[in-house]
Amino acid sequence: MIKLSGITPSGEVHLGNYLGAIRRWALHSGPDDLYFVSNMHAMTVKHSPERLRHLTDHQLAVLLAAGVPQEQLFVQADLIREHMTLTWLLECTCTFGEARRMIQFKEKSQGSASVRLGLLTYPVLMAADILLHGTAQVPVGEDQRQHVELARTLARRFNTDYGEVFVVPEAVLPEAGARVRDLTDPSRKMSKSSSEANGIVYVLDPPDVVRRKFQRAVTDSRNEVRYAPEDQPGVANLLDILAACQDTTPERAAESVGSYRELKEAVAEAVLATITPVRERAIHLLESRTELSHIRRQGAERARTRSERRLSEAIALAGLA
Ligand code: ATP
Ligand code: MG
Repeated sequence: MIKLSGITPSGEVHLGNYLGAIRRWALHSGPDDLYFVSNMHAMTVKHSPERLRHLTDHQLAVLLAAGVPQEQLFVQADLIREHMTLTWLLECTCTFGEARRMIQFKEKSQGSASVRLGLLTYPVLMAADILLHGTAQVPVGEDQRQHVELARTLARRFNTDYGEVFVVPEAVLPEAGARVRDLTDPSRKMSKSSSEANGIVYVLDPPDVVRRKFQRAVTDSRNEVRYAPEDQPGVANLLDILAACQDTTPERAAESVGSYRELKEAVAEAVLATITPVRERAIHLLESRTELSHIRRQGAERARTRSERRLSEAIALAGLA
């Protein structure tokens, strides 16, 4: 049974991505699970081609360095023809009303006519990602459930109207990972595209930068180390991170430190112990371009081989061949 997860190169990989998702992908993936860098999704808003190219390699390198199996990993646009072909078949299966109803589209477009058409249609591209690879389960958070629901609807409709070809996917809850909050504003999650740099710890940040960011993390004036997410969100966030790195509970992590200064130092060191090997391997991969390109090409080849029959069948069923 195939489970598919992706990460969009909208920014560099941060600690939230690593502790909340990537680490699990590396440790707990089933033999058929698939992972991809969804670079085609990173251009629904104005983007820089140079930066997108850089971030795509960066994310691929971090995923590999983290231990995501290379046989199960590919870059979306390395199969751009396949993904776009299926997107067209599915766009012609999807109604305007269905696309327009997507909450993310409504929120991000806010009724403006100048938003890119890609913002309206990207859930269909996402459906194509899911259906092309025969995905049975898509681990997603609340914000993406509606899109998986759309993929389900389109799979069923295509299967009914033209013939059985797609696995009907379902959204599943991701294995609970740590939720990491912004270090300067613990009321929101650490996020590639909306946090400001001081609030985000990047997996590739050098050790002194990591230490500095934790030193400056927002806490409160109580100087009481206890796990109380409602009352002390900044401290709770640091304890969550410490616990995730030490594989313990935040309550137990709280017992091991006496002051905020100690807490910040302990978190910084625990984070460094966790991410330094990943950082070093990723930097090595980014420096030895040939290895990264080779892995990338092989990933694309395997993904293409796995999906080509299904795509040909869908093309034929739609009457195009
Ligand atoms: P964007 O701001 O572009 O949405 P993001 O930082 O939210 O970026 P995504 O690409 O949306 O990252 O998510 C990649 C994976 O990382 C997902 O599985 C998501 O659940 C997880 N993730 C993202 N942010 C966090 C966080 N702060 N804590 C834990 N997990 C996170
Ligand atoms: Mg996100």
